[in-house]
Amino acid sequence: MRDYDGTDLGEAEPASDFAAVPDAFQRLWTPYRIAYIKANSEQEPGAEGCPFCVAPTLSDEKALIVHRGEHAFVLLNLYPYNSGHLLVCPYRHVATYDEATADEVAEIGSLTQTAMRVLTETSGCHGFNIGMNQGRIAGAGVAEHLHQHIVPRWALDSNFFPIVAGTKAVPRLLGEVRAEIAAAWPQN
Ligand SMILES: [Zn+2]
Repeated sequence: MRDYDGTDLGEAEPASDFAAVPDAFQRLWTPYRIAYIKANSEQEPGAEGCPFCVAPTLSDEKALIVHRGEHAFVLLNLYPYNSGHLLVCPYRHVATYDEATADEVAEIGSLTQTAMRVLTETSGCHGFNIGMNQGRIAGAGVAEHLHQHIVPRWALDSNFFPIVAGTKAVPRLLGEVRAEIAAAWPQN
């Protein structure tokens, strides 16, 4: 892959190598050098290839992990609704909230609270959408492995793009956002 002036940018990494919850939108990555050329929307991991089981085995940078807890971890969604869209996942491969242990439920809750504070501090967001899609029929992209979405919201962050073009504008690169959130995450 080459830049407009012929500079070799190396090979684009396939999106299927990263943890992700695909949706129906394409992304228009507005920063100048885009790392993700084509999202593999066909991705449908089985238990073996579960992206949320693979993620903790990779480096934080590769897996977009911002914090590793005892029972659960926090990572950026590769298919963000907004910049800073985080996912909180238990390490265990369980599908639904009622299958989580008391320890997992408690840590998913406390990590969600911390994520809200860190996102407010780093991004100045005005609100959040927080929740879990349980089952594919309910919209879960990776239905086999429980994950809680934390989507920061700003006044006026909705525009016409998703409606007229099936495309969302995401103004910052994931690696940059990951580094900023990870640095702001409180150390124990
Ligand atoms: Zn899994």
